[in-house]
Amino acid sequence: MTIKANVSLLALNTLALPGRAEFFCRVASDDELAAALAHARTKKLRVTVLGGGSNVVLAGDISGLVIQMATRGIEQRQQGGASNTVHWTVAAGENWHQFVQHSLAEKSYGLENLSLIPGLVGAAPIQNIGAYGLEVSERFVSLRALEISTGKTLSFSNGDCQFGYRESIFKQGAAGQFVVTSVTMALSQQPNVDISYPALAAAFEHTAGRMPSPQQVGDAVCRIRQQKLPDPAVQPNAGSFFKNPVLEKDRWQQLQAQYPQLPGYPQADGSVKLPAAWLIDRAGWKGAQGQGCGVHREHALVLVNSAACSGRQLLQLAEDIIVDIKQRFGILLVMEPQVFGATK
Ligand SMILES: Cc1cc2nc3c(=O)[nH]c(=O)nc-3n(C[C@H](O)[C@H](O)[C@H](O)COP(=O)(O)OP(=O)(O)OC[C@H]3O[C@@H](n4cnc5c(N)ncnc54)[C@H](O)[C@@H]3O)c2cc1C
Repeated sequence: MTIKANVSLLALNTLALPGRAEFFCRVASDDELAAALAHARTKKLRVTVLGGGSNVVLAGDISGLVIQMATRGIEQRQQGGASNTVHWTVAAGENWHQFVQHSLAEKSYGLENLSLIPGLVGAAPIQNIGAYGLEVSERFVSLRALEISTGKTLSFSNGDCQFGYRESIFKQGAAGQFVVTSVTMALSQQPNVDISYPALAAAFEHTAGRMPSPQQVGDAVCRIRQQKLPDPAVQPNAGSFFKNPVLEKDRWQQLQAQYPQLPGYPQADGSVKLPAAWLIDRAGWKGAQGQGCGVHREHALVLVNSAACSGRQLLQLAEDIIVDIKQRFGILLVMEPQVFGATK
């Protein structure tokens, strides 16, 4: 492991934003990670963890040590008795989509709806990744992590992680305190696909009631995502830029009386989730251009770096959208990606 000074992070974030790490290293094993953290403690360097850079906004240079996870390793363990459950323990540096593909090839099912989400396995629990009706918390058993301030190894159960919609303890009370080293998930050898999400149901409506295989569901998810979402390699982006707001039922009913076409998805606790994309589209932001960046022409939730913008320019566009949506609908949009480098 080599620690380098003044390293460009432009190629390491899917928004292709400029920004430099004061110090940078890539760790290929948990021992290298422990050594990097010990170095940071000795030199009193602030630590920032980077996975695939698909959910971060670089607002500027990052002071301290940026550690990129490059650890590898996938293990499966059959659970006892007549159980069909297999526990998979996966190193934080493994690519998420490749792991999902691998699990399907090994006839372990349950992650097919989360196919093609960019990034690494270690980041999956950080914002409890979700798509097509499934969140990773529904398959998550536990994770192991190193505490940055002490180098101690800790284990977090599902309950410990305090998962919510695009949330976990690692974005709240424990933000910036741990590096996830591995994640354990429980998958099933028994196929039990869920195609209730509307886009998936539509993809299989001509199958005459025959249930698709998990691999077919995974393939359909990939096709839908490829048609719908811009490829960051072509149009740099970080996927959905804002979380979908969740409103109390009363507030939702008031709003729906004003905007009868406003879609809403009732949640188990009685609240209603509404698509941030609808609000942004309705406010006329779809396709809008800021300074070197804009809102995707077909996807109101995706901000794109269209002409080598800076993180500050992108955040200004996000702020303009947030202020406008608040004024028009009284709803405060919350950004999904984490902002790095703002405080130097
Ligand atoms: C085109 C596109 C589509 C997307 N679609 C979805 C989607 O459908 N659903 C969804 O939920 N997300 C989606 N995302 C967002 C993103 O892919 C996920 O949030 C992903 O989990 C981020 O992984 P990463 O490795 O790139 O993390 P990074 O962007 O590198 O990091 C994200 C955060 O996690 C922290 N982190 C990363 N690794 C670790 C670790 N090992 N230990 C501790 N902290 C860590 C970072 O410090 C940072 O705070 C999409 C992004 C893009 C670009």
